[in-house]
Amino acid sequence: MPTIFTHAVVPLALGVALGRRAISPRLIAAGMFVSMAPDFDTVAFRLGIAYADQFGHRGASHSLLFALMIGMLGAIAAPWLRTTRWRALLFLSFCTASHPLLDALTNGGLGVALLWPWSHERIFASWRPIAVSPIGAGFFSQRGLAVLWSELQWVWLPVLGIACGAWGLRRRAGGRPTIAS
Ligand SMILES: [Zn+2]
Repeated sequence: MPTIFTHAVVPLALGVALGRRAISPRLIAAGMFVSMAPDFDTVAFRLGIAYADQFGHRGASHSLLFALMIGMLGAIAAPWLRTTRWRALLFLSFCTASHPLLDALTNGGLGVALLWPWSHERIFASWRPIAVSPIGAGFFSQRGLAVLWSELQWVWLPVLGIACGAWGLRRRAGGRPTIAS
């Protein structure tokens, strides 16, 4: 995985890019949470489940089906998230799916079971620039700092750069008054 909180940059950036009229603050917060949720599967190590098992780390919880199920739960909770059901479904499914897609860009561990349960194959992208984060090791070790630098380069800066660009464009386009919702 990239470091767990690096996954939360994607929903945050998307929220900044689209604005609070489109994505409510509660929906952003939920998106940040679900973008990290697939890695709760590291509990599998404590339970003695092998990494390569379908319920091991980067297994079922890193699938597109899991992302869709999270989106559906979000749709049920849409009134509480102050959004529409479709928006909750799409945003939360995307945020959850962004997690295994980022993991697939890392240079270590096993790939992600993106197509579970139809395929148990662990998938990696052919281009993997992100240094894999050590599981359970200190972030302030030499390797931890190298990982953070790699994530800054390949996730934080590009994603937040695009978000700020979109935010600027939206502000320019939204200079005229808009109808209050
Ligand atoms: Zn992961």
